[in-house]
Amino acid sequence: MTVLSNRVNELEESATIAMAQKSRTLKEQGIDIISLSLGEPDFMVPDFIKEAAKKAIDDNFSKYTPVPGYLDLREAVALKFKRDNGLTYAPNQIVVSTGAKQSLINVLLAMINPGDEVIVPAPYWVTYFEQVKMAGGIPVVVKATFENDFKVTADQIKAAITPKTKMMIFSNPCNPTGASYTKEELQAIAKVVAATPNFYVMSDEIYEHINFVRKHESFAQFPEVYDRTITVNGLSKAFAMTGYRLGYIGAPVEIAAAATKLQGQYTSATCSIAQRAAIAALEADPSQIQYMIDAFNARRLIVFDLLKTIPNIKVNLPEGAFYFFIDVSYYFGKTIQGHLIKDANDLSLFLLDKAHVAVVTGQAFGDDNCVRLSYASDEATLREAIDRIRVTLEN
Ligand code: PMP
Repeated sequence: MTVLSNRVNELEESATIAMAQKSRTLKEQGIDIISLSLGEPDFMVPDFIKEAAKKAIDDNFSKYTPVPGYLDLREAVALKFKRDNGLTYAPNQIVVSTGAKQSLINVLLAMINPGDEVIVPAPYWVTYFEQVKMAGGIPVVVKATFENDFKVTADQIKAAITPKTKMMIFSNPCNPTGASYTKEELQAIAKVVAATPNFYVMSDEIYEHINFVRKHESFAQFPEVYDRTITVNGLSKAFAMTGYRLGYIGAPVEIAAAATKLQGQYTSATCSIAQRAAIAALEADPSQIQYMIDAFNARRLIVFDLLKTIPNIKVNLPEGAFYFFIDVSYYFGKTIQGHLIKDANDLSLFLLDKAHVAVVTGQAFGDDNCVRLSYASDEATLREAIDRIRVTLEN
């Protein structure tokens, strides 16, 4: 008998959180570390949202709330889905949770039986792979290529389908690559999904507003897959509300009810104050957060130009989110400053040690050739970080 369960023993620690922890430890030792490892906006919560949170405290929103969230919050989510995405969800199709992370695991636990296969396009967000395992499912990785801007095609999805396929999970725009799917690309995937009985899609759209090239396209917009889609979203990215912990789904009624049933047994509803603040965030016109998106866009272009000065890396211009996913495979097998770089893990540790810059190994995202760099930092910090990386790799 061991102390810990097989479930937890088989789980990987989140590589992004591990890297953030390592850089924090080095910082505590007085080393000037620049961390580009976490997916967290550097902006503060907008004042009008903070005011709503303060008012919620004063107005005594302090009791347990309905498990899927206050009704007026779910109504605000429904209006947001209509306004921004053209999607019709009634409040009983909406479940608010403690971050989109919980929204995802709720749905997986509600729908996946042991042995069910879940298609996870790679590069994927670390948590999908591990949450599928937690739910007893089998992650089936479908690899998107650098050449196709890290987007999977409908044909690739079709080829991965087996009688055990139950779901596909992807983020659009994508963490870690910034890939943003066009309507045509999604439509082609939707056709494959609709033609396969009992095949569902969890469409994580938490970066929808951070999209620099097109209006965001929701997967559930295609009538043939509306009933097969769970749309996931949250406030962490566009509203810089990571610590408030608020995510939500729009889903078929049966799935929303199952997610609520599960949530009722482990967290109950998310924090009442965060819920009141969320109403203010969701009711606001998206133009109120445009300044953050404009800043991300400006940094994206600056970082792209700077990265191009680093010899031998391959980099594409991401269309959304706030990450670069850089192919560093040229350096594998090479010795830099006396260190043999075997793989992306080695390279990210080497950069932390020598350049004092934290990036995350691509292995954590299902791509061994790359590292992920988050540009949710101010411009001066980004310039300094990339300069350090360039100098370190040049020597
Ligand atoms: N989905 C994706 C693609 C993410 O990048 C993140 C945050 N890193 C989340 C979900 C989780 O967001 P939340 O803070 O709402 O749990």
